[in-house]
Amino acid sequence: MFNIIIIGAPGCGKGTQSANIIRKYGFTHISTGEILREEVELHTSIGEVVKKFIDRGYLVPDDIITHEIFITATSQPQQTKGMLFDGFPRTIFQADYLDSLLFQNGSKISLVIQMDVDEDELYNRILNRSKDSNRSDDHIEIIHKRLKEYDKKTHPLIEYYRKQGKLQTVRAMDPVKDVFGRIANIIDDYLIKEGK
Ligand code: AMP
Repeated sequence: MFNIIIIGAPGCGKGTQSANIIRKYGFTHISTGEILREEVELHTSIGEVVKKFIDRGYLVPDDIITHEIFITATSQPQQTKGMLFDGFPRTIFQADYLDSLLFQNGSKISLVIQMDVDEDELYNRILNRSKDSNRSDDHIEIIHKRLKEYDKKTHPLIEYYRKQGKLQTVRAMDPVKDVFGRIANIIDDYLIKEGK
């Protein structure tokens, strides 16, 4: 099974490019942001807890995330071509958890795609999106906190995956279709190399 992580700061375009990847390659999309927003919308007990973190721009605690991932990942059909993890992992703890979960299923992370966008552009994109996203965390002061959380807790994952030889960085300042072209080239190269 081919498992990819797409990683980058809030506003880098992970959601948009994930949708493109899913459309082209048919992987199963696992977005923790979407899973959590659904819990909030349904007013579940987990939703009530995570809302407080999301609305303040903080990461949701690792134990809640690993619980949600366990439920989601283990309920996927066995014959899936692969999984695309979008917005997960966001801490070293989560990355270790994911490795062990995949290992138990005889699988592993194949590739990590980092989307690299300048900070000014991240603000522009999120503020633009906020006009119709209706997301409680797309506000200037919350964006600032989300970016700080990213730098402190998620950015160390870049080095973590670089050391494992799995990291591919894509400059993602250009139009969506150009960035997707680069991502698709990376995935295609990998699939050819692996003979898939
Ligand atoms: P996203 O849609 O990926 O930007 O996520 C929105 C918010 O959900 C984040 O700012 C966090 O508060 C929370 N969240 C999503 N995924 C994770 C994760 N893997 N770990 C911790 N918090 C998360």
